[in-house]
Amino acid sequence: MFDLKKHMKANSIDHAIALLLENPDARLIAGGTDVLIKLRNGKPGFSELVDIHSLEELNFIQQDEKNNILIGSGVVFTDIIQSDIIKKHIPMLCDAVQSIGGPQIRNIATIGGNNCNGVTSADSASTLFALNAVLEIRGKGTTRQVPVSDFYLGPGKVDLKKGEILTTFKITPENYQGYFGYFYKYAMRNAMDIATIGCAVSLKTKKHIIEDYRIAYGVAGPVPMRCPKTEKSVINRKVSKSLLDEISQTIETDVSPRTSWRATKDFRMNIIKELSKRATKEALLRAGEEV
Ligand SMILES: Cc1cc2nc3c(=O)[nH]c(=O)nc-3n(C[C@H](O)[C@H](O)[C@H](O)COP(=O)(O)OP(=O)(O)OC[C@H]3O[C@@H](n4cnc5c(N)ncnc54)[C@H](O)[C@@H]3O)c2cc1C
Repeated sequence: MFDLKKHMKANSIDHAIALLLENPDARLIAGGTDVLIKLRNGKPGFSELVDIHSLEELNFIQQDEKNNILIGSGVVFTDIIQSDIIKKHIPMLCDAVQSIGGPQIRNIATIGGNNCNGVTSADSASTLFALNAVLEIRGKGTTRQVPVSDFYLGPGKVDLKKGEILTTFKITPENYQGYFGYFYKYAMRNAMDIATIGCAVSLKTKKHIIEDYRIAYGVAGPVPMRCPKTEKSVINRKVSKSLLDEISQTIETDVSPRTSWRATKDFRMNIIKELSKRATKEALLRAGEEV
């Protein structure tokens, strides 16, 4: 049973902002794959909705004149998977969003909704962390840019104020040109399952030396996270199999998984270590290195 009190269809970003400010108890609905479940379950705060689904202003994937890759918050996962820009420049984002739900979910669920939930298991998030994505957020007469790592404030909490809308994910050329990446998801099933652990690696090599290395996880802590100690220990090191083993040891010092009904902390730690090796190896192979 859906106890929907108000459904307001926005016809532009500014209209959506105005509706949110006029209706302080309302929240946005994009694809609705999270919102409608909460509404059906009777969770408070979901009975007044401002609908931004199918707002063309939020539906774009493009490269601007500075080669920034811009992804609108209203883009659905199927369109990301099929985008030539994403396939060519950041295929690791295809790896990540291809793992989400099933085809029906990917046809309707948006990358904006995935991140605005603020959950650690959001499959697009760790890749956006590894790419140093910057989020553009619009309010009434305001626009601000927030690095994705600052956007996540705590479990279920993101840096969005009353009347604000996430509009764009921006990935600058210095964060993707020359980089090769890979996303690995471990879940109990191959489809329609939330990640037990997700791991994204993005790296750059020159003459078999790792010039830059980023590793990010979902479900390795209360919010998606990068692993600074491990990253520092890998930069300027020669590609080798023993380096992969070293990464899987150091990674323990960066993460803080917990026990839930889905998996114990110890099991998660084992997966975290194993995925650090697998995702790094696949990223190195994409970079043309032999491991
Ligand atoms: C069967 C099923 C399987 C799933 N599998 C996965 C999975 O494998 N991996 C995974 O990560 N997720 C999964 N999900 C969760 C969900 O599909 C994703 O999180 C999805 O990306 C949410 O996007 P949406 O457009 O449907 O968001 P909505 O439900 O419309 O919104 C989610 C939240 O974001 C807010 N919001 C939406 N857009 C904006 C915006 N532009 N600005 C500000 N706030 C906004 C809403 O107010 C709401 O709080 C699954 C869900 C279902 C039902």
